[in-house]
Amino acid sequence: MEKRKVSVKAPAKINLSLDVLSKRPDGYHEVEMVMTTVDLADRIELTPLEENKITIESSGGFVPLDGRNLAYQAALLLKEEFHIKEGVHIHISKHIPVAAGLAGGSSDAAAALKGLNEMWGLNLSLDELAERGAKIGSDVSFCVYGGTALATGRGEFIQLLNAPPPCWVLLAKPPIGVSTAEVYRNLKVDNLEHPDTAAMVDAIKQKDFSKVCSQLGNVLESVTLNMYPEVRQIKEQMIRLGADGVLMSGSGPTVFGLFQHESRVQRVYNGLRGFCNEVYAVRILGE
Ligand code: ATP
Repeated sequence: MEKRKVSVKAPAKINLSLDVLSKRPDGYHEVEMVMTTVDLADRIELTPLEENKITIESSGGFVPLDGRNLAYQAALLLKEEFHIKEGVHIHISKHIPVAAGLAGGSSDAAAALKGLNEMWGLNLSLDELAERGAKIGSDVSFCVYGGTALATGRGEFIQLLNAPPPCWVLLAKPPIGVSTAEVYRNLKVDNLEHPDTAAMVDAIKQKDFSKVCSQLGNVLESVTLNMYPEVRQIKEQMIRLGADGVLMSGSGPTVFGLFQHESRVQRVYNGLRGFCNEVYAVRILGE
């Protein structure tokens, strides 16, 4: 009998809040992040191979097609731990911009973990998959659950939250890729203006849209804005054009705006398209 292909959606995330508390002796940073998924997604299609190997292919975007690909690493991790003797071909339909602060690679890895759990009949729980995901990258654990969560530690401890108030999200990405490692290297941990993570969590619990907008904060933003003036420009434009709340996601360079009313999304979208090629109007997925 021919084995079934498995197809899994891999949504992008945005950071509603991102705080860095300290640098740890192991080199990682201790963080507090409020993250939520949006409906811009890659699709991962897994096809069983009789030959014992992992092959990978991507429809677009400049992503590595070897052991550096996070979806490949996810497959290798499960294959080795569970002594799987068959192979898999991973096809990524890439829609999430790469190196953009939207966790595209991490989400692909999480989708591969979930799909292979099904294909290889491993019966691992989401918690067990998230634990393995943390070995691949700090955002992979969150991506295994999706929805909305507070992530602590180096990002691997996940406390799930209810969905934020429904709203529109405009994502605008200037034509540059940002290295997360470089942004962290330039961060002065002892001299930060910290966002109020607890207030953001409350705003989400209360589904208070204005409070979500007023509590948006990301300590990496000023670092990236200083390195790349084009990111600052996009942020200023989005504010000027009338988004309800604006923030850079992750280490950037994607800037997002939140909107309660659809009519305004269209207007700001049109305004941004004049000087930014990559603009997406999406919804918060939330749960
Ligand atoms: P984060 O928000 O988690 O910091 P990001 O959105 O900034 O992530 P990614 O799109 O995940 O960044 O890409 C970061 C790097 O990871 C890229 O430079 C790319 O070479 C590598 N990478 C590995 N696997 C993938 C993948 N499946 N998709 C995209 N990038 C990948």
